[in-house]
Amino acid sequence: MPEQVIKRKSRGFICVNAHPEGCRQNVSRQIGAIASHTQSSRAGLKNVLVIGASTGYGLASRIAAAWGFGARTLGIFFERPPEGVKTASAGFYNSAAFHEFARRDNLFASSLNTDAFSDLAKKQAAEIIRSQLAPIDLVIYSLASPRRVHPRTGEVFNSVLKPVGQAFTNKTIDLDVGKVVQVTLEPASEKEIADTVAVMGGEDWEMWMEALLAEGLLAPGARTLAYSYIGPQVTWPIYRDGTIGQAKKDLDAASKRINAKLNAKLGGRAWVSVNKAVVTQASSAIPVVPLYLSLLPPALRARRLDEGTIEQMRRLFFDYLSEGATVPTDDAGRIRLDDREMRADVQSDITRLWPQVTTENLRDLSAYDDFQREFRSLFGFEVEGVDYEAAVETDVQL
Ligand code: NAD
Repeated sequence: MPEQVIKRKSRGFICVNAHPEGCRQNVSRQIGAIASHTQSSRAGLKNVLVIGASTGYGLASRIAAAWGFGARTLGIFFERPPEGVKTASAGFYNSAAFHEFARRDNLFASSLNTDAFSDLAKKQAAEIIRSQLAPIDLVIYSLASPRRVHPRTGEVFNSVLKPVGQAFTNKTIDLDVGKVVQVTLEPASEKEIADTVAVMGGEDWEMWMEALLAEGLLAPGARTLAYSYIGPQVTWPIYRDGTIGQAKKDLDAASKRINAKLNAKLGGRAWVSVNKAVVTQASSAIPVVPLYLSLLPPALRARRLDEGTIEQMRRLFFDYLSEGATVPTDDAGRIRLDDREMRADVQSDITRLWPQVTTENLRDLSAYDDFQREFRSLFGFEVEGVDYEAAVETDVQL
């Protein structure tokens, strides 16, 4: 395929293509954020499996494991490869860049571009692990998916982002037109709640851990983490108390069961890590959250507390997962990386500004322009240092 100039194509707010060089630069910047903080003595992770490894928190976790610890990584993701003149998805280009930089730096990396919910993915992963990464000492579960086909019954579940019990009305940004509007979200049906739990709850995480345990592929003391979010009260009806929140409660319950099994068999541990809100493809799709994600960074920056996705994962891996580190948890046994986001002074800025925000003052009162830029950069667009007039090879392989 000849090289081509790639301009951003959008359907409403969503980008439908991706820029390989922009994605490559994003990965390179994240590697830099880890490599610049690495001490040669950092130990504790040798073989790491990341499920949901191509974008967002999963990609940042994989980078932290590889460049922070020199770990060998197996990444699982579900991304669109390039096809003819059509670009690949951003996660595909991110992963291709991950492999390129891993080769450069003599780090072992293997990837499976497949449906992580399937039994086949678990079987293929087990084969790769057995021959090249056994035993695994850390499993990161970082899937965000709208859909799951149940591997045993074939049933298809679609997740929804809706409140539970009653309708919810609040402000949000209509991202297609950049306006602040009122939105009313009708409550989910019982089936929608159950389906969202089936997609985003803990069943698949548990299936992964059981498969790895059964195959004897986990190291003594092996650990696993799945990511969650709680957030402030303004988002509770759509997040914590909504359909996705029900799925996250299911994840909490799964973490207890997995923890008990790992502990009994290997002296291992399972945790849910509650991470801060960051701009990812998954978080931007949640109503009300984009306005919150536009108000949060200025409140954190004013106090020098801001962290992006890679900085959160740097803190998690370096402070909690390094050899000998203690792992402080909240009363429910969860790791809390959202401590800075949830500080009373940070949240009081947001609570004060929330009622004042209108379409007219959105760009003055919030960092909406940054949110928009960051969202586009997830697809490799508007990334500093990239020449968007230059033709690039889009037919990149993993
Ligand atoms: P993301 O959309 O950036 O990443 C999702 C990943 O899942 C991608 O690698 C994608 O390829 C993979 N994936 C989706 N469906 C798949 C499938 N069927 N098979 C294999 N891979 C599949 O999402 P994210 O925001 O990084 O979210 C990851 C986790 O972090 C989620 O559990 C989310 O709830 C949690 N979290 C996110 C935030 C936030 O603000 N973004 C905050 C706290 C916790």
